[in-house]
Amino acid sequence: MGSQKESMLSVEGLSCKVYWEFVGVPTASCPSPGCEEVLLRGHGAYRRYVGGQYAWVRRLRCPRCRVSHALLPDDLCAYRDSRLGEVEVALTAGTPSLGAEAAGQTGSDGVRRVRRWLRAAAGSLSEKIKALLPAVAGPWWQRAQAAVGSAAGWLCRLRHWLWSSASCFLGGLSGLYRHGRPGRWSPRGSP
Ligand SMILES: [Zn+2]
Repeated sequence: MGSQKESMLSVEGLSCKVYWEFVGVPTASCPSPGCEEVLLRGHGAYRRYVGGQYAWVRRLRCPRCRVSHALLPDDLCAYRDSRLGEVEVALTAGTPSLGAEAAGQTGSDGVRRVRRWLRAAAGSLSEKIKALLPAVAGPWWQRAQAAVGSAAGWLCRLRHWLWSSASCFLGGLSGLYRHGRPGRWSPRGSP
């Protein structure tokens, strides 16, 4: 499954659809504070499940601070074999069974999976994301849609928006990672 302690980042436009056809090292600068001008270099790859199959995920490393980053397709969840597009339609569907249907998650396993997504989305992630978005009444995804639009792909756009506006990587449902890094942190520095 790859290292779960590694930093993560995505490059806009490098979706699952194009990620595995892309040759070469995408241009990305180091997200670590003080390294903004430093371009990351290729640093191998690891395997993880995508669509039920093993796929290679590139690693990039900063020649200055030496931190390595997993380069995730920009529409793929961290630590889950799910795409942001599936999760976003499930979130807004209203119920787990409607969500499962919308996300193409079949059977009772699919409903259980979506129920886990909804639980994860309603937990601490929700508060963290809300704190970073302009205030709008309703759940965090309504705030998110107000910020990045509600057309399909809004969760992916939110990932890029949070990255450029708050230096936080949206894992999907697994959390928010300051500068892409795992670890405990709170928005606005409160404990
Ligand atoms: Zn660096």
